[in-house]
Amino acid sequence: MAKWIDFRELRQQLKFADVLRHYGVELKVRGDQHHGFCPLPNHKGKKNSESFSANLVKGIFQCFGCGAKGNLIDFAVLMEKLNPEDGLDARKAALILQERFIPAEFKPEKTQQSNARRPKVHAEQWELPNTGDNDPPKHVIVNAPLDFELKNLDFNHSYLNKRGFEKAIIAKFGLGYCSKGLLAGRIAIPLHNPEGKLVGYAGRIVDDSLIGKDNPKYRFPSGRERNGVTHDFQKMLLLYNAHRLKPMLKELAIVEGFPSVWWLTQMGFPNAVATMGWAMSDEQAEIVTSLVHPDGRVWLITDGDEAGDRCAGEVLPRVSRQRFIKWLKLDEGKQPTNYPGGWYRDQFR
Ligand SMILES: [Zn+2]
Repeated sequence: MAKWIDFRELRQQLKFADVLRHYGVELKVRGDQHHGFCPLPNHKGKKNSESFSANLVKGIFQCFGCGAKGNLIDFAVLMEKLNPEDGLDARKAALILQERFIPAEFKPEKTQQSNARRPKVHAEQWELPNTGDNDPPKHVIVNAPLDFELKNLDFNHSYLNKRGFEKAIIAKFGLGYCSKGLLAGRIAIPLHNPEGKLVGYAGRIVDDSLIGKDNPKYRFPSGRERNGVTHDFQKMLLLYNAHRLKPMLKELAIVEGFPSVWWLTQMGFPNAVATMGWAMSDEQAEIVTSLVHPDGRVWLITDGDEAGDRCAGEVLPRVSRQRFIKWLKLDEGKQPTNYPGGWYRDQFR
C-alpha cells in the first residue's frame, strides 16, 4: 500500500532553515526575509542578481528570476529535479525530507487503517535565527488561540433571519451582531483552528450600501503585537467549519463563503467547509485530505461568477491529487444559498 504522507504535519515539523542548510544554500538575512542567488537547478535568468528570497517564518520562497515559488516541500521538489506539477514527485521529495529530518517515532506517514486520527494542528510558533547583532530572536505566532471572546453580541439581530437562516443555525455557528470595536456594524463569525480553538472573528457587514474600498464585505483579523510577540492571522491555513467535522467523511462539500456553509447545514448537509475566498492553499487542500476518506467524494460548489471559476482553478488541481472531486458549477449569478435542499439531494446522489 502506498504511504500516505501528511504534508501539513510534515511541514509543521520541518524548519525551512534546516532544509536550506541540507541543500547547502546560504542566504542573507533582512528582516523576516532571507535573500540570495537562486539555488534552484532549473533557474533561468540572471545568475548575478539576488533574485531568490525565503521567508523562514512562513516556510515559503520565491525567485523573481525564474518565477519559482512555493513552500519548503516545493523547494525540495525543485532541488531534487523532480516535477512540481506531479503529486507523486511531491511525495518523493516529502519522503526525502522526512527520512532526513524526522525521527522515526514522529513520522507523520499513515496507513489507510490508522489515519482516522486527525492531524494535530497547533498555533505555529517559529523562532527566527538571530540576525547577527544582539537582537533577541523574533517570535511570530500564527493563528494563536484567543484568550478572550467577544461579549455582548446580539444573537437575535434580524440580518440573518432576513437572509433565511434559522435560529438553530445562527446558534450553532455562534453568529451575532457586533456593535462595538473593529467589527461594529457586522455579524461576528467565530473562526476556529482544526482543533476547535477560537482563533479570531471574521465580520460580515450588515448594510451592503456601506461596502467600499476601506470597508469590505468581510473583515478578517489582522496582525497584532503583544508582549513583544507578533501575532499573525492567516486564513489560508484554515478551512471554515473543518473543526466541526469528524474524519473519515464519505462526502464533503467545499464552498467559497460562510453563508454557503450555514445554508448547506440548514438544508441537511453539514459536511461543508469554506475556503473564505476564491483562493486555496496547499495547507487547506491537506485539511480536505485529512477529513475525507480515501474512497470518499468531494464536491466543489462555487458561486456562478468569475471568482467561482477562479476558485475551481485553485481547488480542483490541489484536491484531485489526493481525493475524488467533482465541480458543481452553478448558473451565472447564482450562489449555493439560491438552491433548495432537494436540489442538493439530487446532485449528491
Ligand atoms: Zn530562480
